[in-house]
Amino acid sequence: MKNKAVFFDRDGVVNYRIVGEYISSPENFVFTPDFIDFFIYVKKAGYLAIITSNQQGIGKGLMTEEQLEKVHVHMQNQVKKLTGFKFDDIFVCTELAEANSHCRKPNPGMIEEAVKKWDIDTSQSWMIGDRASDVIAGKRGGLKTILLRCFSNETLPEADFVFRNLYEAHRKIFL
Ligand SMILES: [Mg+2]
Repeated sequence: MKNKAVFFDRDGVVNYRIVGEYISSPENFVFTPDFIDFFIYVKKAGYLAIITSNQQGIGKGLMTEEQLEKVHVHMQNQVKKLTGFKFDDIFVCTELAEANSHCRKPNPGMIEEAVKKWDIDTSQSWMIGDRASDVIAGKRGGLKTILLRCFSNETLPEADFVFRNLYEAHRKIFL
């Protein structure tokens, strides 16, 4: 049987987004208020939990691969401590926006790679993001999509669901 997955955009969904800046050290990585409870539910319900994150700060030279790796080690340690689970995988696209790389959302490259690697049934799987580019990438990758509007005013009619936060998504979709 194929796997089902929840694809998480990182900044603005898992952790607070710092507008105009990159999260380049663990001190700047702070979970959003509803993330931990939602993550516990997702893992107990048998979903793979996969991050797909655009990080062009690396392509711009504003952050190094090593700094990003440190942030993700910290994130995984914290999430393990708080929930007993970890993200199953983390996909990052470091290309610049203008390169229009297939990996960079709104393109579906990271999702396609994960689907192949983890044998994922896209029809049973979700993309959750706070930007239009997340929703478009999710749609292109064949996923059901949720747009969160907690920190962004972006909206998109193509999103299957629009919620204020993960708490609302949890209550309305996943229970
Ligand atoms: Mg985001």
